[in-house]
Amino acid sequence: MNKVTIIFSGLLLLTGIMSCTAQQQDESKNPYYKPFDNTKLTLNNAEWKKVLTPKVYFIMREKGTEIANTGPYVHNPVKGMYYCAACGNALFSSDTKFDSGTGWPSFFKPFNGKSVITSKDNSYGMERDEVLCARCGGHLGHVFDDGPPPTHLRYCMNGYALHFDEHEVYQTKPDTKK
Ligand SMILES: [Zn+2]
Repeated sequence: MNKVTIIFSGLLLLTGIMSCTAQQQDESKNPYYKPFDNTKLTLNNAEWKKVLTPKVYFIMREKGTEIANTGPYVHNPVKGMYYCAACGNALFSSDTKFDSGTGWPSFFKPFNGKSVITSKDNSYGMERDEVLCARCGGHLGHVFDDGPPPTHLRYCMNGYALHFDEHEVYQTKPDTKK
């Protein structure tokens, strides 16, 4: 392999890597992404649009829903932490994840009392409890009361609203309530 071929192959590899990661949220370009910072964020949508990918923006700022089984983490068996894709707030530990069979990542309990808030959602003729990130107010999904014990809750999340980190495993605090 001569020098030109090596450089050309290197460029092809780099282009491949860049195109593979283009769909993923890039936290390094998001100055608001700070795990374990509980400072409330009140940014307007124009500011969010600058730092979120179009798909994450649609779900989290326009209350969109990814099509079942198309988002990440539905069948992720790896131990770790799930953070808010917009702001990095710690939302769920893998020790509360379960297979709901719905096609969306599901959890029976948030990580702690500062993880999520809920709000009544009467859109589409349904009475549902919307789940929002407690730090940035980003839409995450909905919570239903047909989950497994001990809480019997099912936090039905959009995978694109989450960012998973397998390097950090935290136990959900036993005193945490809905
Ligand atoms: Zn957030």
